[in-house]
Amino acid sequence: MSQRTLVLLKPDAVRRGLVGEILGRIERKAGWTIGALELRTLDRGILEQHYAEHVGRPFYEPLVAFMESGPSVALVVEGERVIEGLRALAGPTDPIAAAPGSIRGDFGTIVRENLVHASDSEESADREIKLFFPGLA
Ligand code: GDP
Ligand code: MG
Repeated sequence: MSQRTLVLLKPDAVRRGLVGEILGRIERKAGWTIGALELRTLDRGILEQHYAEHVGRPFYEPLVAFMESGPSVALVVEGERVIEGLRALAGPTDPIAAAPGSIRGDFGTIVRENLVHASDSEESADREIKLFFPGLA
């Protein structure tokens, strides 16, 4: 079941020089390929749409401020069961709870600054890919 998912390497990952490390983990998964990739500082407009489900939650405003604070790397990854697979590679939202071996488990300590975003379902992936890469077929 080949799928596409939207991944963000968040500003903490870029600032800390972890782009190569994280992209390497994705590239080394057999059969997964990068279909689009861009370095970009996200603005409030795109973040409000991206994180629409979280508007009004206590962590929302600091999350947007963090996500605006420097460039992110946005990419589309394609391949076998890549939506579930990327969530597993990232680990759970809280990096302290995330298992060693996962990206968040290996590199993170702070819930907000948890290095990566990965779409959580086919519906989210479709919506997020259209939002970040509107020209992609
Ligand atoms: P994800 O799908 O694992 O990224 O998690 P969510 O969709 O629930 O939340 C989106 C992002 O908001 C997370 O990746 C964190 O960066 C941040 N976040 C979520 N929950 C919390 C929280 O309880 N506290 C803080 N500070 N940040 C949170
Ligand atoms: Mg989420």
